[in-house]
Amino acid sequence: MEQNAKRHDWTRAEVRALFALPFPELMFRAQTVHRMHFDPRAVQISTLLSIKTGGCPEDCAYCPQSARYETGVTAEKLMSLDTVLAEAQAAKRAGASRFCMGAAWRSPKDRELDQVAAMVEGVKALGLETCATLGMLTAVQAERLKTAGLDYYNHNLDTSPEYYGAIITTRTYQDRLDTLAHVRDAGMRVCCGGIVGMGESAEDRIGMIATLASLPVHPESVPINMLVRVAGTPLAGGEGLDPIDFVRTIAAARIAMPKSVVRLSAGREDMSEETQALCFLAGANSIFYGPKLLTTPNPGRDRDLQMMDRLGLVPMRD
Ligand code: SF4
Repeated sequence: MEQNAKRHDWTRAEVRALFALPFPELMFRAQTVHRMHFDPRAVQISTLLSIKTGGCPEDCAYCPQSARYETGVTAEKLMSLDTVLAEAQAAKRAGASRFCMGAAWRSPKDRELDQVAAMVEGVKALGLETCATLGMLTAVQAERLKTAGLDYYNHNLDTSPEYYGAIITTRTYQDRLDTLAHVRDAGMRVCCGGIVGMGESAEDRIGMIATLASLPVHPESVPINMLVRVAGTPLAGGEGLDPIDFVRTIAAARIAMPKSVVRLSAGREDMSEETQALCFLAGANSIFYGPKLLTTPNPGRDRDLQMMDRLGLVPMRD
Protein backbone atom coordinates (compact mmCIF):
# COMPACT_ATOMS: atom_id res chain seq x y z
CA MET A 1 0.00 0.00 0.00
CA GLU A 2 1.40 3.35 -1.00
CA GLN A 3 2.03 5.29 2.22
CA ASN A 4 1.20 8.61 0.60
CA ALA A 5 -2.31 7.63 -0.38
CA LYS A 6 -5.38 9.12 1.24
CA ARG A 7 -7.79 6.25 1.81
CA HIS A 8 -11.31 6.11 3.11
CA ASP A 9 -11.68 2.36 3.27
CA TRP A 10 -9.61 1.55 6.33
CA THR A 11 -10.72 -1.70 7.89
CA ARG A 12 -10.54 -2.40 11.59
CA ALA A 13 -8.06 -5.18 10.84
CA GLU A 14 -5.71 -2.76 9.10
CA VAL A 15 -5.88 -0.22 11.89
CA ARG A 16 -5.47 -3.01 14.46
CA ALA A 17 -2.33 -4.10 12.62
CA LEU A 18 -0.95 -0.56 12.92
CA PHE A 19 -1.50 -0.50 16.67
CA ALA A 20 0.17 -3.94 16.93
CA LEU A 21 3.38 -2.88 15.20
CA PRO A 22 6.55 -2.88 17.27
CA PHE A 23 6.89 0.68 18.60
CA PRO A 24 10.01 1.57 16.55
CA GLU A 25 8.33 0.36 13.37
CA LEU A 26 5.11 2.25 14.12
CA MET A 27 7.06 5.45 14.80
CA PHE A 28 9.11 5.04 11.62
CA ARG A 29 5.96 4.57 9.53
CA ALA A 30 4.27 7.55 11.16
CA GLN A 31 7.29 9.79 10.62
CA THR A 32 7.66 8.69 7.03
CA VAL A 33 4.04 9.61 6.29
CA HIS A 34 4.30 12.84 8.27
CA ARG A 35 7.34 14.04 6.31
CA MET A 36 5.61 13.42 3.00
CA HIS A 37 3.03 16.09 3.80
CA PHE A 38 4.39 18.36 6.51
CA ASP A 39 7.49 20.08 7.77
CA PRO A 40 8.22 17.94 10.86
CA ARG A 41 9.31 21.03 12.81
CA ALA A 42 6.09 22.97 12.22
CA VAL A 43 3.34 22.99 14.83
CA GLN A 44 0.00 24.66 14.16
CA ILE A 45 -1.09 26.71 17.15
CA SER A 46 -4.73 27.25 18.03
CA THR A 47 -6.31 29.09 20.93
CA LEU A 48 -9.58 27.90 22.41
CA LEU A 49 -11.96 30.24 24.23
CA SER A 50 -15.07 29.15 26.08
CA ILE A 51 -17.62 31.70 24.91
CA LYS A 52 -20.47 30.07 26.85
CA THR A 53 -19.46 28.01 29.85
CA GLY A 54 -21.35 25.37 31.84
CA GLY A 55 -25.00 24.47 32.28
CA CYS A 56 -25.04 22.05 29.35
CA PRO A 57 -28.04 19.67 29.25
CA GLU A 58 -26.01 16.82 27.70
CA ASP A 59 -24.54 14.01 29.83
CA CYS A 60 -21.04 13.47 28.34
CA ALA A 61 -19.42 11.51 31.16
CA TYR A 62 -16.06 13.26 30.84
CA CYS A 63 -17.35 16.82 30.82
CA PRO A 64 -17.32 19.24 33.76
CA GLN A 65 -19.69 21.53 31.87
CA SER A 66 -22.63 19.15 32.02
CA ALA A 67 -25.35 20.53 34.30
CA ARG A 68 -25.88 16.97 35.56
CA TYR A 69 -22.60 16.81 37.51
CA GLU A 70 -21.37 18.76 40.53
CA THR A 71 -18.00 19.93 39.28
CA GLY A 72 -17.78 23.50 40.53
CA VAL A 73 -18.28 24.89 37.01
CA THR A 74 -21.01 27.50 37.13
CA ALA A 75 -23.26 28.23 34.17
CA GLU A 76 -22.47 31.51 32.47
CA LYS A 77 -24.15 33.55 29.76
CA LEU A 78 -22.80 33.86 26.24
CA MET A 79 -19.82 36.23 26.24
CA SER A 80 -20.20 39.66 24.70
CA LEU A 81 -18.86 40.33 21.22
CA ASP A 82 -16.36 42.87 22.58
CA THR A 83 -14.92 40.42 25.09
CA VAL A 84 -14.51 37.72 22.45
CA LEU A 85 -12.78 40.11 20.06
CA ALA A 86 -10.41 41.32 22.79
CA GLU A 87 -9.50 37.69 23.56
CA ALA A 88 -8.97 36.98 19.86
CA GLN A 89 -6.66 39.97 19.54
CA ALA A 90 -4.65 38.76 22.54
CA ALA A 91 -4.44 35.26 21.03
CA LYS A 92 -3.17 36.69 17.76
CA ARG A 93 -0.50 38.71 19.56
CA ALA A 94 0.57 35.53 21.37
CA GLY A 95 1.13 33.73 18.06
CA ALA A 96 -2.11 31.81 17.43
CA SER A 97 -3.18 31.40 13.81
CA ARG A 98 -6.60 29.96 14.59
CA PHE A 99 -9.15 31.04 17.17
CA CYS A 100 -11.64 28.44 18.35
CA MET A 101 -14.84 29.37 20.16
CA GLY A 102 -16.60 26.76 22.28
CA ALA A 103 -20.11 26.91 23.68
CA ALA A 104 -21.65 24.36 26.06
CA TRP A 105 -24.87 23.82 24.17
CA ARG A 106 -26.71 20.74 22.96
CA SER A 107 -27.26 22.77 19.80
CA PRO A 108 -27.46 26.54 19.25
CA LYS A 109 -30.77 28.39 19.07
CA ASP A 110 -31.17 30.65 16.07
CA ARG A 111 -30.75 33.86 18.12
CA GLU A 112 -27.56 32.46 19.65
CA LEU A 113 -26.31 31.47 16.25
CA ASP A 114 -26.72 35.07 15.06
CA GLN A 115 -24.56 36.23 17.97
CA VAL A 116 -21.89 33.64 17.20
CA ALA A 117 -22.01 34.58 13.51
CA ALA A 118 -21.14 38.18 14.50
CA MET A 119 -18.21 36.85 16.55
CA VAL A 120 -17.00 34.79 13.59
CA GLU A 121 -17.12 37.84 11.33
CA GLY A 122 -15.21 39.93 13.88
CA VAL A 123 -12.50 37.34 14.54
CA LYS A 124 -12.05 36.74 10.83
CA ALA A 125 -11.60 40.50 10.28
CA LEU A 126 -8.61 40.32 12.65
CA GLY A 127 -6.89 37.98 10.22
CA LEU A 128 -7.34 34.79 12.23
CA GLU A 129 -8.76 31.50 11.04
CA THR A 130 -12.01 30.75 12.82
CA CYS A 131 -13.32 27.57 14.41
CA ALA A 132 -16.39 26.94 16.54
CA THR A 133 -17.78 24.09 18.55
CA LEU A 134 -21.42 24.69 19.46
CA GLY A 135 -22.97 21.21 19.57
CA MET A 136 -25.25 19.68 16.97
CA LEU A 137 -26.08 21.70 13.86
CA THR A 138 -28.84 21.44 11.28
CA ALA A 139 -27.98 21.88 7.62
CA VAL A 140 -29.42 25.42 7.71
CA GLN A 141 -27.36 26.36 10.76
CA ALA A 142 -24.19 25.05 9.13
CA GLU A 143 -24.92 27.19 6.08
CA ARG A 144 -25.44 30.23 8.33
CA LEU A 145 -22.01 29.76 9.92
CA LYS A 146 -20.35 29.21 6.57
CA THR A 147 -21.88 32.44 5.29
CA ALA A 148 -20.48 34.27 8.35
CA GLY A 149 -17.02 33.06 7.32
CA LEU A 150 -16.45 30.15 9.69
CA ASP A 151 -13.46 28.11 8.49
CA TYR A 152 -13.68 25.06 10.77
CA TYR A 153 -16.35 23.38 12.82
CA ASN A 154 -15.34 21.06 15.65
CA HIS A 155 -17.55 18.12 16.49
CA ASN A 156 -15.81 15.07 17.92
CA LEU A 157 -16.84 11.44 17.54
CA ASP A 158 -15.35 10.99 21.03
CA THR A 159 -14.78 7.21 20.89
CA SER A 160 -15.70 4.05 18.99
CA PRO A 161 -19.34 3.44 17.99
CA GLU A 162 -19.39 0.47 20.41
CA TYR A 163 -18.19 2.34 23.49
CA TYR A 164 -20.09 5.54 22.76
CA GLY A 165 -23.21 4.53 24.74
CA ALA A 166 -21.13 4.19 27.91
CA ILE A 167 -20.06 7.83 27.59
CA ILE A 168 -23.09 9.73 26.24
CA THR A 169 -26.77 8.85 26.24
CA THR A 170 -28.36 12.17 25.24
CA ARG A 171 -27.36 12.05 21.57
CA THR A 172 -26.46 9.21 19.26
CA TYR A 173 -23.35 8.45 17.26
CA GLN A 174 -25.49 8.95 14.16
CA ASP A 175 -26.46 12.44 15.40
CA ARG A 176 -22.76 13.25 15.41
CA LEU A 177 -22.21 11.85 11.94
CA ASP A 178 -25.20 13.87 10.71
CA THR A 179 -23.76 17.13 12.08
CA LEU A 180 -20.41 16.34 10.48
CA ALA A 181 -22.16 15.76 7.15
CA HIS A 182 -24.00 19.10 7.42
CA VAL A 183 -20.71 20.89 8.16
CA ARG A 184 -19.05 19.20 5.21
CA ASP A 185 -21.97 19.89 2.87
CA ALA A 186 -21.90 23.57 3.83
CA GLY A 187 -18.30 23.72 2.65
CA MET A 188 -16.56 24.17 6.00
CA ARG A 189 -13.50 22.28 7.10
CA VAL A 190 -14.01 19.63 9.76
CA CYS A 191 -12.22 19.30 13.07
CA CYS A 192 -13.10 15.90 14.50
CA GLY A 193 -11.32 13.52 16.82
CA GLY A 194 -11.84 11.91 20.18
CA ILE A 195 -10.80 11.27 23.72
CA VAL A 196 -8.77 8.36 25.06
CA GLY A 197 -8.19 7.25 28.62
CA MET A 198 -11.95 7.00 29.29
CA GLY A 199 -11.77 3.34 30.27
CA GLU A 200 -12.16 2.23 26.67
CA SER A 201 -10.45 -0.91 25.38
CA ALA A 202 -7.61 -0.96 22.86
CA GLU A 203 -10.21 -2.17 20.37
CA ASP A 204 -12.22 1.03 20.99
CA ARG A 205 -9.21 3.18 20.17
CA ILE A 206 -8.80 1.14 17.00
CA GLY A 207 -12.50 1.59 16.21
CA MET A 208 -12.32 5.34 16.75
CA ILE A 209 -9.37 5.80 14.39
CA ALA A 210 -10.91 3.45 11.80
CA THR A 211 -14.19 5.41 11.91
CA LEU A 212 -12.45 8.79 11.55
CA ALA A 213 -10.31 7.52 8.69
CA SER A 214 -13.35 6.06 6.93
CA LEU A 215 -15.33 9.32 6.82
CA PRO A 216 -16.07 10.31 3.20
CA VAL A 217 -13.52 13.11 3.56
CA HIS A 218 -10.88 12.99 6.29
CA PRO A 219 -11.28 15.71 8.90
CA GLU A 220 -8.71 18.42 8.13
CA SER A 221 -8.00 18.60 11.84
CA VAL A 222 -7.99 15.58 14.18
CA PRO A 223 -7.75 16.39 17.89
CA ILE A 224 -6.67 13.46 20.04
CA ASN A 225 -7.42 14.22 23.67
CA MET A 226 -6.17 12.47 26.78
CA LEU A 227 -8.99 12.50 29.32
CA VAL A 228 -8.61 15.16 31.98
CA ARG A 229 -10.24 13.64 35.06
CA VAL A 230 -12.44 16.21 36.73
CA ALA A 231 -13.89 15.58 40.20
CA GLY A 232 -17.66 15.24 40.06
CA THR A 233 -17.81 13.72 36.57
CA PRO A 234 -18.58 9.99 36.21
CA LEU A 235 -15.08 9.39 34.80
CA ALA A 236 -13.27 11.11 37.68
CA GLY A 237 -11.98 7.92 39.25
CA GLY A 238 -10.83 5.69 36.42
CA GLU A 239 -7.34 4.49 35.61
CA GLY A 240 -5.07 6.54 33.39
CA LEU A 241 -3.92 5.38 29.98
CA ASP A 242 -0.32 4.25 29.43
CA PRO A 243 1.36 7.22 27.69
CA ILE A 244 2.84 4.83 25.09
CA ASP A 245 -0.70 3.75 24.15
CA PHE A 246 -1.55 7.43 23.75
CA VAL A 247 1.45 7.89 21.43
CA ARG A 248 0.37 4.80 19.47
CA THR A 249 -3.07 6.37 18.97
CA ILE A 250 -1.47 9.55 17.60
CA ALA A 251 0.77 7.52 15.27
CA ALA A 252 -2.16 5.48 13.97
CA ALA A 253 -4.11 8.69 13.32
CA ARG A 254 -1.17 10.13 11.43
CA ILE A 255 -0.76 7.06 9.22
CA ALA A 256 -4.48 6.57 8.57
CA MET A 257 -5.12 10.29 7.84
CA PRO A 258 -1.84 11.36 6.24
CA LYS A 259 -2.80 14.90 5.26
CA SER A 260 -4.78 15.84 8.36
CA VAL A 261 -3.35 18.05 11.06
CA VAL A 262 -3.30 15.88 14.20
CA ARG A 263 -3.75 17.89 17.36
CA LEU A 264 -2.22 16.92 20.65
CA SER A 265 -5.16 18.33 22.50
CA ALA A 266 -6.48 18.13 26.08
CA GLY A 267 -4.39 16.40 28.71
CA ARG A 268 -1.04 18.05 28.03
CA GLU A 269 -1.00 19.69 31.46
CA ASP A 270 -0.37 16.30 33.08
CA MET A 271 1.88 14.97 30.31
CA SER A 272 5.66 15.06 30.53
CA GLU A 273 7.52 16.98 27.84
CA GLU A 274 9.11 13.67 26.92
CA THR A 275 5.70 12.14 26.19
CA GLN A 276 4.71 15.22 24.22
CA ALA A 277 7.98 14.95 22.26
CA LEU A 278 7.06 11.35 21.36
CA CYS A 279 3.65 12.60 20.21
CA PHE A 280 5.33 15.12 17.89
CA LEU A 281 7.58 12.34 16.59
CA ALA A 282 4.47 10.21 16.03
CA GLY A 283 3.02 12.91 13.78
CA ALA A 284 1.14 15.31 16.04
CA ASN A 285 1.51 18.78 14.56
CA SER A 286 -0.88 21.04 16.39
CA ILE A 287 -1.45 22.15 19.97
CA PHE A 288 -3.80 24.39 21.87
CA TYR A 289 -1.98 27.30 23.35
CA GLY A 290 -3.01 29.20 26.44
CA PRO A 291 -3.51 28.51 30.14
CA LYS A 292 -7.01 27.00 29.87
CA LEU A 293 -8.85 24.58 27.60
CA LEU A 294 -12.49 25.55 28.09
CA THR A 295 -12.60 24.79 31.82
CA THR A 296 -9.57 22.54 32.37
CA PRO A 297 -5.92 23.62 32.84
CA ASN A 298 -3.44 23.69 29.94
CA PRO A 299 0.30 24.48 30.08
CA GLY A 300 0.99 28.23 30.12
CA ARG A 301 2.30 29.97 27.02
CA ASP A 302 5.81 30.40 28.44
CA ARG A 303 6.08 26.71 29.21
CA ASP A 304 4.96 25.82 25.68
CA LEU A 305 7.38 28.26 24.10
CA GLN A 306 10.20 26.75 26.15
CA MET A 307 9.15 23.24 25.15
CA MET A 308 8.98 24.15 21.48
CA ASP A 309 12.36 25.82 21.77
CA ARG A 310 13.81 22.77 23.52
CA LEU A 311 12.53 20.53 20.72
CA GLY A 312 13.39 22.92 17.87
CA LEU A 313 9.74 23.26 16.84
CA VAL A 314 8.36 26.35 15.15
CA PRO A 315 4.82 27.71 14.66
CA MET A 316 3.26 26.51 11.41
CA ARG A 317 2.61 29.23 8.88
CA ASP A 318 -0.55 28.45 6.93
S1 SF4 B 1 -18.95 17.86 25.92
FE1 SF4 B 1 -20.17 19.54 25.08
S2 SF4 B 1 -22.18 18.63 24.76
FE2 SF4 B 1 -21.10 17.26 26.18
S3 SF4 B 1 -21.69 17.98 28.23
FE3 SF4 B 1 -19.77 19.02 27.68
S4 SF4 B 1 -20.40 20.97 26.80
FE4 SF4 B 1 -22.19 19.63 26.78
